[in-house]
Amino acid sequence: MIRYALHCDRGHEFEAWFGSSADYDRTAAAGENVCPFCGSTAVEKALMAPAVGGRARASGPKGEGESKTEESKGETMTLAAPDPRQAVFREALKEFRRKLTENADYVGDRFAEEARKIHYNEVEPRGIYGEATADEAKGLAEEGVEFQPLPPLPEDRN
Ligand SMILES: [Zn+2]
Repeated sequence: MIRYALHCDRGHEFEAWFGSSADYDRTAAAGENVCPFCGSTAVEKALMAPAVGGRARASGPKGEGESKTEESKGETMTLAAPDPRQAVFREALKEFRRKLTENADYVGDRFAEEARKIHYNEVEPRGIYGEATADEAKGLAEEGVEFQPLPPLPEDRN
């Protein structure tokens, strides 16, 4: 005997026993599988999500599995756990930003203005960083001013 999770074309889910998978195929082809809720014969096997960590997620209402215990907390973390490579990446980004900014003056939203002054040798060359609008950045690029977007840290995007 083999048990299948089935659903009909109206979304009713139910289970049914078959002698074998071939038996299921035969009855399915013959339209003999009937939804017990609505009588529909448009019934097919439900797609089963692969079980993660050897334990299938219940298809119950959302939040059902949420509890304050350490165990289930750990389980939730598994799904949302940051990729360890991401942490390395974030550290590298931080380091990159630090290097870029440690010898540079923060000029805020006057970045485009200051960058131009430096580019046209109106002031002593120095490293600066600050904010520029997309239009300003485009204008600077068109004028051949060299600058780089400072990569945002992942947590800054929240
Ligand atoms: Zn149904």
